[in-house]
Amino acid sequence: MEETKLRILELYSGIGGMHYAAELANIGAEVVFSVDINTSANEVYRHNFKQTNQQSRNIESLSANEINKLKPNVIMMSPPCQPFTRVGLKLDVEDSRCSSFLHLLDVLPHLETVSLVLMENVVGFETSEMRNAFTKALKSCGFYFQEFLLSPVSLQIPNSRNRYYLIAKKFTNFAFGTETDIMTAFPSNSCDITIPVGQKTLEPYLEKNFADEELARYLLPAKTLMKYWRILDVRQRSDISSCCFTKAYTHYAEGTGSVLQHDSNESFQEKFADFEKDGNVAHLEPLQLRYFTPREIANLMGFPAHFSFPENTSLRTRYRLLGNSLNVLVVSSLLKILLK
Ligand code: SAH
Repeated sequence: MEETKLRILELYSGIGGMHYAAELANIGAEVVFSVDINTSANEVYRHNFKQTNQQSRNIESLSANEINKLKPNVIMMSPPCQPFTRVGLKLDVEDSRCSSFLHLLDVLPHLETVSLVLMENVVGFETSEMRNAFTKALKSCGFYFQEFLLSPVSLQIPNSRNRYYLIAKKFTNFAFGTETDIMTAFPSNSCDITIPVGQKTLEPYLEKNFADEELARYLLPAKTLMKYWRILDVRQRSDISSCCFTKAYTHYAEGTGSVLQHDSNESFQEKFADFEKDGNVAHLEPLQLRYFTPREIANLMGFPAHFSFPENTSLRTRYRLLGNSLNVLVVSSLLKILLK
């Protein structure tokens, strides 16, 4: 029945992580409107979701009236996170990048059909003024909510991406604790829903059959190795974890994501010992240290195999857009909990 289909409004849509999460949750929902201001993100989005009404817009231009006409039941959103990150200036609500989110809080009381909200943000949001403003607005509109700090690691996915999540439901108290309790794991008892789990080691997420030219494209330049070998997070195919891939991956070396020892037959310890003896970076060559490819990062983030980038999206942009996106399995699980 067409009328009973859940209608999703996807805000700050990026490359559509929320949309994929809704697909994966298999809840018979439809994204009726999707908005982002970034044109390269929107190109990727439209490349994958040709049927979706996706618009390049500033969210500040959305009125309650316009939203009401779309009759959405669910809002899924990842507002920009720079105002709250530890490297940012922590300007919080004063930051101009918060203005679209503040605008949404003004609009919220006038939305007639929205009864479910799922939002994703960076760790740090939970102690911000913005969080207080958001939860206050939700409560005054009759929403109950539950907050989480979750990483895909808790789903046996070998990748860290600790993030803040809030799910909210109108007129139904479904919180798992008191209002101030932030959950750091998926609730085990309260939901008999199936939560997907990952593949434990990195290997299944890696591309098979790398052609030599392909490999050459991703190898770490000798210069980078020389300069940054101390701070690189080198992973083996058999490892059960990797660091969060951020939008600056491959561009900055420190804390932006792990690199891989492509040739697992070589001894990492041996080659590094040789290198430390004489400082000759050539000793590391047999390890074939390389960056994870965008496809591999997408795999770790739970994007389906049919997700792809338009050919003209540069490598740098692919990493940037993925770094801004989210773990599809984590969000999909939260969505199921929200709808339970
Ligand atoms: N969840 C998304 C990524 C969100 S990152 C994904 O899966 O890819 C935050 C996004 O908010 C960015 O894509 C940025 O372009 C967008 N954005 C920031 N301010 C905006 C505004 N005022 N209006 C619309 N989009 C905005």
